[in-house]
Amino acid sequence: MSINAIKPFVCINCGHRVRELYKKYSNTLKTTHCDKCHQITDKYIEFEEFIILIDALLLDSCAFRHIIYNGNFKIHWKVFFVVLLLESFALCRYKHDSGRIASSHLHERGFYMCTIQNIGDA
Ligand SMILES: [Zn+2]
Repeated sequence: MSINAIKPFVCINCGHRVRELYKKYSNTLKTTHCDKCHQITDKYIEFEEFIILIDALLLDSCAFRHIIYNGNFKIHWKVFFVVLLLESFALCRYKHDSGRIASSHLHERGFYMCTIQNIGDA
């Protein structure tokens, strides 16, 4: 049984369930169009993971749909890791600004402590 049979795909524009994201013609792949909204079902299948990651960080809902429903497992961990680091940095800055972390601890120990706290809160 292939992975495609287990996991349904969705259109990243409207969330409509689709059977396939692309059709294979001899040596080329052609993206499919959604039955509901008639847009390209998932433009991100042709994009570099880095671009998808940037769009996800810009809170693009299409990029999130691609990652959650249509993407492969590898990128989930990258997104998790980047979000964790950004969250930790924000927490570290907040603690520093509110005077709960001394300036000398901001760069290393404080950041790692915030990262551990974020993992614990997850
Ligand atoms: Zn659609």
